Order: sequence, then structure tokens, then C-alpha cells
Amino acid sequence: VDHLAGKVAFVQGGSRGIGAAIAKRLARDGAAVALTYASSANQAQEVVQEIEAIGGRAIAIKADSADAMQIKSAVQVAADTYGKIDILVNNAGVLALGNVAETEISLEDIDRTLAVNVRSVIVASQAVVKHMDKGGRIITIGSTNSDRMPFQGGSIYAMSKSAIVGLTKGLARDLGPLGITVNNIQPGPIDTEMNPDSGDFAQTLKGLMALPRYGTVEEVASFAAYLAGPEAAYITGASLLIDGGFSA
Ligand code: NDP
Repeated sequence: VDHLAGKVAFVQGGSRGIGAAIAKRLARDGAAVALTYASSANQAQEVVQEIEAIGGRAIAIKADSADAMQIKSAVQVAADTYGKIDILVNNAGVLALGNVAETEISLEDIDRTLAVNVRSVIVASQAVVKHMDKGGRIITIGSTNSDRMPFQGGSIYAMSKSAIVGLTKGLARDLGPLGITVNNIQPGPIDTEMNPDSGDFAQTLKGLMALPRYGTVEEVASFAAYLAGPEAAYITGASLLIDGGFSA
């Protein structure tokens, strides 16, 4: 408790789902939080209000993670507001499904997937590092689908999450000398609007897992809070599964 007191976190995509839970958890653990959103303004404000209700500090910034300029501006707003950034969480992500044998995968879907799921991580990391001291943390939400892609239609999503594995290793090498760690959390099925724990697809996924249940956003947020904290100082360049044994 309070192991993040005095820290500042920037959560890219913090209005809903896993990102909102991470923003709230980091705040509960003592961090001041800047969170971004693209379209869910009301939900972003609700996250801010929930954090303020527990005595925390938070701001919400509109910034489309597909747009590098908007990411850089948001990072600047956060740094101007709080004076520094200690923790970057890259959570913004999109899921475009399509079986290449059955449908034409649009170039727009490919480009948007790469822009939001991959390019935003590079842009935000580079922008944040200027405001980050020794002990800094960069955490990206990848996916167990980098490791196991056991259903049809997920090729471009899996590609984007696999890119994060290599990117995390490279960033860890670049930023290690600065005392900054870089890690990739790879969740399995987590109950959110992107992947609701209901319907036939959810049943199929549960049949593939060692633990036949969906995870909760709080379980992922707890893992992120650990990686963000001082006890995780020796973990870097790692892609870490929290997936109920999905890829076991
Ligand atoms: P949701 O769709 O429930 O939430 C996505 C969040 O990302 C929202 O806050 C959304 O904000 C934000 N976001 C999406 N696109 C953009 C954008 N262009 N710019 C800024 N913010 C954006 O998804 P989840 O919470 O389920 O997923 C979060 C991350 O976890 C993603 O990277 C996803 O790939 C990954 N993941 C999810 C799993 C699952 O089973 N749920 C499993 C493994 C990984 P807004 O509404 O304002 O656009």
C-alpha cells in the first residue's frame, strides 16, 4: 500500500476496461495519474472522479493513440501538470478480426492496428523518457496471443502483439543504462467490452485454458502495480503471461 507514493503515471488508453482498472489501482497505491482516451470522454471523467473520491490526483487527456502528435502533446500536458513521469502504461489497443481466407482484410484495419497497438508504444516511450528519471517503468499491455493464436481471424491482432515482444526487448536494452525497466504484460481473456465473458466465443476460449474462466481487470491491474513498483526493479525486457494458462 502506498508503494507508489510520489510517483506519476501516464496511462495511454485509461478510460475503460483494463486501462481504467490500472489507472485506479496505481492511484490507490499512491501515484498521481494522467490517463488518455480517444472517444470515451464521460468514462474517462468517471475514472478521474473515482480516483479523486479516494483522495488521489488524476487528469484525463483526449489523445488518439493512432496520432503521434496527439500522444506527444498529451505527454507534455502530463509532464507540465505533475513535473515528471515515472510510470508509462501503454494499454490502448484495438482488435480487428478477419479470416484472410474468407474476407478481405482492409488496409485501414492493418494500419490502424499497427498504429494503435504498436507505433503508439514507441512514440509514447520516446516522449516520456525525456521526463523520466532512474527507477522509471514502461509497461505495455500485449497479449497471450503473441504466444498462442488458437482461433481463426486473429492474424493481424496477433502480429501486433508479437511485435510488442521484440519491441520490449529492444527498449529494455536502450533504457537499461538509464535505470528504466520495460516490460510487456500478456493477458489471456479478460472480461471487458473488447472481450465480454458471455456468448459462444467466451465458451470456446474457456475450453482452451488451464483455468477455465475469464480473468478480471483487477487481476491485470494488480500485476501492473507490482511491475510499476520498486520491488520489480530487476525485471526488464520480459513478456509476462497472466492468462489462466491459455498458452500452457
Ligand atoms: P477495451 O476495448 O475495453 O478498452 C480499450 C481502451 O483503450 C479504452 O480505454 C479506449 O479508450 C482505449 N483506446 C482504444 N483505442 C484508442 C486510441 N486510438 N487512442 C487512445 N485510446 C484508445 O479493451 P480492453 O480493456 O479489453 O483492452 C486493453 C488492452 O489489453 C488492449 O491493448 C488489448 O489488446 C489488451 N488485451 C485485452 C484482452 C482481453 O481479453 N480483454 C486480452 C489480452 C490483451 P476510448 O474508448 O476512449 O477509445
